[in-house]
Amino acid sequence: MTIEYDKLFIGGSWTTPSSSNTITVVSASTEEVIGSVAEAQEADVDAAVDAARTAFDDPNGWATWEPAQRADVMERFATELESRAQDITQRVSAQNGMPISISLAIEGAFPVNLLRYYAGVARTLSADEARTGLLGGAITVRREPIGVVGAIVPWNFPQSLAAFKYAPALAAGCTLVIKPSPETCLDTGLLADAAVAAGIPNGVINIVPGGREVGAYLVSHPRVDKISFTGSTAAGRSIAETCGRLLRPVTLELGGKSAAIVLDDADLDLATIGEKLFQATLLNQGQTCFLGTRVLAPASRYDEVVQTFAALAGSLKIGDALDPTTQIGPMASDRQRDRVEGYIAKGKAEGAKVIVGGGRPSSQDKGWFVEPTIFADVDNNHTIAQEEIFGPVLSLIKYNDDDDAVRIANDSDFGLGGSVWTQDPERGFGVARRVQTGTIGINSYMPDPSSPFGGVKASGLGRELGPEAVQYYQSVKTIYT
Ligand code: NAD
Repeated sequence: MTIEYDKLFIGGSWTTPSSSNTITVVSASTEEVIGSVAEAQEADVDAAVDAARTAFDDPNGWATWEPAQRADVMERFATELESRAQDITQRVSAQNGMPISISLAIEGAFPVNLLRYYAGVARTLSADEARTGLLGGAITVRREPIGVVGAIVPWNFPQSLAAFKYAPALAAGCTLVIKPSPETCLDTGLLADAAVAAGIPNGVINIVPGGREVGAYLVSHPRVDKISFTGSTAAGRSIAETCGRLLRPVTLELGGKSAAIVLDDADLDLATIGEKLFQATLLNQGQTCFLGTRVLAPASRYDEVVQTFAALAGSLKIGDALDPTTQIGPMASDRQRDRVEGYIAKGKAEGAKVIVGGGRPSSQDKGWFVEPTIFADVDNNHTIAQEEIFGPVLSLIKYNDDDDAVRIANDSDFGLGGSVWTQDPERGFGVARRVQTGTIGINSYMPDPSSPFGGVKASGLGRELGPEAVQYYQSVKTIYT
């Protein structure tokens, strides 16, 4: 049975789209068609932006509510999403190949937690801060919602990464037009249902499934006030150019090529660190922006580190994303698999050595699978060490001492995540402080809703998560009296 959406969620209800064009959604594990969704055209984006604009400009509307009132609705939204978590995670995993156990833990739970977290943050927000001016007189500094937000989301964690945007934006009092990726637009129907059931006012959330043209149209739309984008660095640059020309505020969460730095005192026993190492380097078969895909290993223990990663990669269960025992599912699309295979070929051609994997698993005759692949003898200048692969491919790079490890870690265009593996947390902290990155973990890595997440260099601009994220959806007004 396939899932069909022939209408678009605009202005709080399912509306007839301007054309009969549809997006066909295919299972990454079986390559079978699992559904179709009406594809938004420019006229539909216009309608969605108008709905968001009207909701935002309503003199008694969402933007003017007390934050605590918005928080009540956000909590109901969380509960409605929670009650749909099984369906949401099934759809996400069927579409993009994310192992269902990971989908349940992240795609099912994270948006719910984020909404509850930002409802709590909203309750602490006060619009006005009174100050006494240096020149005398009273001053009010107001934080106002920034307006209509265009939120553009990739396919790898479609529900969570949408929530990274709408949860703080709703707390601030903004309205949104969300553009999901064509690969993962079946699950957004459930997001819309949850919003309606929770009583999110009409027009506060609108959804326009479509490809990059629809995204680009939304970015340059004259009635949008702010863009929040998660995706590739190439698309991020193009969006930043448009926003630069328009002087439109933009938050960019982009690609990564983070370093997992194994210090010479690290515990390499997979029984102890295996799960955390997997999360930090191979989660969602490498289709995760923050993973430490450059593993920096001390020369004194290089062979041991190679064996550890070979054992880890070799032990992972590959299979259909909907099988609860699967640890490695397929790539999200055939295009993505081609890209990953292209990088594997390049790695070999540039002289790196495949220790494990490198091909398609013989156990799978359908689906866009790639074996977890470990490259040894990688030089940090190799293409596979410099470019984001977005697949289950790790490059093991040798270093001499801690300074050398930090130098190699920082010799990258990116700076999003990272990790340091050591039995001495203080030493790990010292190394972590020197890595040019937006986020980094010691002996584990997982973004936490309470604290800012984002990148430096080509990994992005601005931050999501934590109370800090709300400011990206506010503008500051000073009133002198
Ligand atoms: P992508 O850049 O191709 O697409 C992301 C989204 O942007 C999609 O919805 C797409 O339709 C849209 N889009 C593409 N070009 C656009 C343009 N010029 N204008 C407006 N919209 C446009 O990325 P993807 O392949 O879907 O996702 C993978 C990438 O996302 C990887 O590079 C990954 O590192 C990155 N990512 C980053 C983070 C982060 O938080 N930093 C998180 C997840 C994924």
